[in-house]
Amino acid sequence: SPSIQFQHEIIRFDKSVHTYSFEQDILNSMNPSMEKNEFYLVYQPKIDVESKKIVGLEALIRWNHPEYGFLSPADFIPILEKNQRISDLTDWIIKTVCKQIGEWREEAIHHFQVAINIPGEYLTSHRLRKVLKKALTKNNIEPSDIELEITETSVMSSINSTIRAISTYKEIGFSVALDDFGTGISSLSNLRKMPISTLKIDKSFVDEVPSSEKDSAILESIIALGHSLNLTIVIEGVETKEQVSFLASTGYPLQLQGYYFAKPLIATELIEWARGFHY
Ligand code: C2E
Ligand code: CA
Ligand code: CA
Ligand code: CA
Repeated sequence: SPSIQFQHEIIRFDKSVHTYSFEQDILNSMNPSMEKNEFYLVYQPKIDVESKKIVGLEALIRWNHPEYGFLSPADFIPILEKNQRISDLTDWIIKTVCKQIGEWREEAIHHFQVAINIPGEYLTSHRLRKVLKKALTKNNIEPSDIELEITETSVMSSINSTIRAISTYKEIGFSVALDDFGTGISSLSNLRKMPISTLKIDKSFVDEVPSSEKDSAILESIIALGHSLNLTIVIEGVETKEQVSFLASTGYPLQLQGYYFAKPLIATELIEWARGFHY
């Protein structure tokens, strides 16, 4: 298990106070917070099940709100999406991630591919192309340093334009992951058409593994399916040793992400953790 414990606990904001004024406060404080660095990123590693090496990171947003304290992204991302403000925050995230990769590279610290969560509607916009291109050039990094994560549910709303956008990004050299796989509807029929590189299997499929035989069988079938489609497979929400053993015993090449290995960490903590990481 992880040798060093870091405290980056997020205190979930009480949903009962999700009022009109809370939404307004969120929207009004977003731009000032971006300027004052009250937003910051944490990075969670993905571990190769066989080599036990770190194979990549996922960037996750955090907000130390001046009035509400630490807010969970689950509480503010939906508000920003609903009010068409999520692309501004996504641009900030892209710039911050690319700057971080550039710094790691300059300091000759081994740099990992970083996955960035991209809201479905933003993926198909021309603006995203420009923002990515600018951030890569500015920090002298490659498209292959970035993975774009899009959720299964967001894909469903405009499948054809999403498929075109994924193809374009793949051709440029980005990796593209389908996030929260298994939680959307009509997933299997659409999966075939999706030119993605990576399948991220939702945490809910691993929660009762290996104690539930049924869940274990379902998880193994989804892994087999992803493998037969030549996809890199990430299992999210891995929390126990037993889950790791089960996943290793399937014999499939897998990447594991979860609290068992590490919670999302700020950049300096992540590098410190990676240096001391022994499986
Ligand atoms: P997600 O993209 O599916 O991210 C995985 C979530 O699971 C993260 O929660 C992560 O901290 C958490 N997690 C990782 N390992 C474990 C584990 O072993 N056990 C448990 N219980 N949880 C684990 P987080 O950071 O609170 O984010 C929640 C959701 O908010 C994300 O789900 C994503 O949908 C959204 N989100 C977070 N950061 C961003 C971002 O930068 N941009 C966008 N657009 N959405 C984001
Ligand atoms: Ca994600
Ligand atoms: Ca996910
Ligand atoms: Ca999830």
